[in-house]
Amino acid sequence: MDVFGFAQFPYVSGALKYVEALDFKLDELFFDRVFGQVRERGKERVLSAIGEGIKKSVCTDRTGAEKELLSYPVARILVSCINDNYLIKRYALAEAKSSYETLKKLPDIDLKDFAEEFDIAAKIDGREYVIHFTDYIRHASAIHEHEWKLINRKMDHGWVHLSREKLSRIIEEAIRKRIESGLPLDVPPEICAALDEHVKEIRAVLDVRKSEFEIGEFSEIMPDCFPPCMAHALSGAQSGVNLSHSMRFALTSFLLNIGMNVDGIIGLFRVSPDFDEERTRYQVMHIHGATGTVYKSPSCATMVTYGNCIGKETLCERISHPLGFYRKKAWILKKMSAVKDAGDKTYIQKES
Ligand code: SF4
Repeated sequence: MDVFGFAQFPYVSGALKYVEALDFKLDELFFDRVFGQVRERGKERVLSAIGEGIKKSVCTDRTGAEKELLSYPVARILVSCINDNYLIKRYALAEAKSSYETLKKLPDIDLKDFAEEFDIAAKIDGREYVIHFTDYIRHASAIHEHEWKLINRKMDHGWVHLSREKLSRIIEEAIRKRIESGLPLDVPPEICAALDEHVKEIRAVLDVRKSEFEIGEFSEIMPDCFPPCMAHALSGAQSGVNLSHSMRFALTSFLLNIGMNVDGIIGLFRVSPDFDEERTRYQVMHIHGATGTVYKSPSCATMVTYGNCIGKETLCERISHPLGFYRKKAWILKKMSAVKDAGDKTYIQKES
């Protein structure tokens, strides 16, 4: 792979060696005006990851390709200075997704190199793409669609048959894991200070993005009243954990039932490794009743059956449905608040 390839895939091991061999000191990247454009592009990478996704730059000459390549370590440093779990997951996902379209179009020989780079045992012969089942399980386990279950794939003596697109998707997942597991970096405070303007700008955009799906902002929704199962699933979804299909359905229907809007719910799932906005919107709208059936969230018995009841609180013993928990807890909290208000009034009257 040459520098144009490294600009496209800056996380491969060869790219790091290429950067190390360049004639400049690392500090210059963060302090020198010459690298201003590189720092801008690094910031743009992170902002795009929070927004609509990272678009690959078209590099027409070596200097442009080197700038694009160097913007990657800058972006990683920026993400590390902010050190926010949601941002790390979202950034890693965006970098990996931005590679997928290019990966799909690579010649077979390059695709095989990629598989090797990520320790995926693959046999590629122009028509068939097979990987060893242990590598398949290692990477496909984060993808929850039915078709990705091992049982639904053709397997021959331990080798799993895939399409070119599916192999590229597996590599995308390996890329995501590599980037995510390498963050945050241990960045010296003086470097974060030098990048302070960029850090502040990213943090502001990140705060806005996160507020769009924080349920606390929906006045009619009371996060304090969530049953343990939903609170646990919600925090998992917000930090990028890929929920099982049944838990995703339970959480989505629960949130819709208590009045959360469709866009807010889609925002919650945005950090999932296999997030696809169009498909998620379709699924949420479907549960919302777009096809005529409004789905109610599953009862506690069903939650237990699917392993989604994560441990009961005392209140759980008095209800049979997560929505019942929510209503009862809301009623209790309102009552407690009314008693407190009455107490405050009595105190004020006594004082005056
Ligand atoms: S008992 Fe019901 S409400 Fe409580 S955690 Fe389990 S499923 Fe959720």
